[in-house]
Amino acid sequence: MLDAAFFHRWMTTVTALVDREAERLTELDSAIGDADHGSNLRRGFTAVSAALEKEPQQTPGAVLALAGRQLISTVGGASGPLYGTLLRRTGKALGDAPAVTADELAQALGTGVAAVAQLGGARAGDKTMLDALLPAVDALGTSFAAGREAALAGAEATVPLQARKGRASYLGERSIGHQDPGAASAALLMAALADTED
Ligand code: ADP
Ligand code: MG
Ligand code: MG
Repeated sequence: MLDAAFFHRWMTTVTALVDREAERLTELDSAIGDADHGSNLRRGFTAVSAALEKEPQQTPGAVLALAGRQLISTVGGASGPLYGTLLRRTGKALGDAPAVTADELAQALGTGVAAVAQLGGARAGDKTMLDALLPAVDALGTSFAAGREAALAGAEATVPLQARKGRASYLGERSIGHQDPGAASAALLMAALADTED
């Protein structure tokens, strides 16, 4: 079973990965966006880790709800409300159980990803974070490691796509040939989950 401490460790691991990869994420965003994705997420997840340290939460749902609120309030860009919604809605789907199974988390993430699609109006193949999140959620039923691999493959598969949502869509065909920064960061979220020990 995955308890609140597991979810806290997951968020701490995401914070470390985002911190390590922030320059790469910003570089990806400089090719097809405004060169702030790494700094946006670094600021957001630093706030998430600080908030969880200051106000430890008792349930998985509460950990994700607090993390989501922090992202929404500290990240100015499109990714803040989108990742914030992902974590809040996943947390809400977990309810107030003191611990959850891996299957329950996979299901709840499915609900969270659907909320991201609804908020942003993007679909698979639009060259967004959803291109990593959707295949990851499908693969999580197998294992967290399978979720990580699917997210990574999904992020790499955004390279030949033309962006149809977000800032990169303003570039039209010139968005082709670059990896979507949000899909790359979504792969980090899934890698952190697979790296977190229960
Ligand atoms: P901004 O574009 O406001 O500077 P970020 O650089 O932090 O925000 O995040 C950009 C990422 O957000 C994109 O790479 C994409 O993955 C994601 N994104 C943008 N718009 C949408 C949307 N409508 N639906 C899903 N994801 C989106
Ligand atoms: Mg940006
Ligand atoms: Mg921006």
